Amino acid sequence: MKALVKYENGLGKMEIREVPVPEPEYNEVLIKVKAVGICGTDLKIYDDKFTSYPPVIVGHEFAGEVVKLGEGVKSAKIGDRVVSEQHTKTCGVCEYCLTGKRHLCPEKRAPGYGIDGAFAQYIKIPESLLHMIPDGVSYEEAALVEPMAIAAYGILDKTKIHPEDTVVILGCGAIAILALQMIKAQGASKVIMTGIDVDEKKRFNIAKGFGADVVINSQREDPVKVVLNETNKMGVDVVIDLSGAPQAILQGFDMLKKDGRFCAIGLPNGEVAVPWMKLALKASTIYFSYSSNYISWERCLSMICKGKVKLKQFTEDIYALDKWEDAFNRARSGEALKVIIKP
Ligand SMILES: [Zn+2]
Ligand SMILES: [Zn+2]
Repeated sequence: MKALVKYENGLGKMEIREVPVPEPEYNEVLIKVKAVGICGTDLKIYDDKFTSYPPVIVGHEFAGEVVKLGEGVKSAKIGDRVVSEQHTKTCGVCEYCLTGKRHLCPEKRAPGYGIDGAFAQYIKIPESLLHMIPDGVSYEEAALVEPMAIAAYGILDKTKIHPEDTVVILGCGAIAILALQMIKAQGASKVIMTGIDVDEKKRFNIAKGFGADVVINSQREDPVKVVLNETNKMGVDVVIDLSGAPQAILQGFDMLKKDGRFCAIGLPNGEVAVPWMKLALKASTIYFSYSSNYISWERCLSMICKGKVKLKQFTEDIYALDKWEDAFNRARSGEALKVIIKP
């Protein structure tokens, strides 16, 4: 089969290769990949700024159809339309695995950088990681569940959104616009989003279309000032960072009202100097969130199925696997909401 392989460490070092179709082992299924999203992490792997274990097939935001069952598979069936959590190679016996937090298992090595991923015609995955795609949800839409589940875990499971909360989302990328829809569905009273110049082209308008009450271009306006003006100088109940930008995070702390909640999901390239006294005096709570869990995947699939989160606009940029370089460039341009490859 054809696959996009990171064949050694270093800048680039990716190419389409002919590799064997994987054989599902005990408790695993073979999935025919129907759609895979390009993630910022894939671009970082290309740029050699994210640890990978070459040679390895890249790609992790996938949806597909079960076409073969390994020995011992209990509930998955041939023909199932599925998405998959990313917690492959977890040990199953550590405290994290045994308490429903296998995403934190030290042994975890996820597809797309730790083990072979989904920019390929087939991928093998343990049955226990699968979730069924509801009828009426396309494979392209389902490929969005992985990034959406990361947002859902941090925002809905850890930080929690209460009815009538005021919320700032730092960042205006695909995950941020998914987060916006989830937060609106929870009954937030006001959602303010921040972005940069490139978001003016398309994403700010999409965000407004999904109900963002205010959008701020942080390169043109002081976002802290705008947020304080919009909230009677109080600040907001919740700030969610999906930008991973140190400056935006520091501004985010200044946007919080006292006793406010900060949800940290974005991963900055460098360290952020936390203003300890400022946060202590405001009695702020920071919820760090990494990866996602079983329930967040089920929540996302349910929200999509019920139309609370709409994904049509995320599936407009589709490329064949052979055109992966064009697809990566498109993703890098920041102009597409999401770029999807169909192997
Ligand atoms: Zn991703
Ligand atoms: Zn473990």
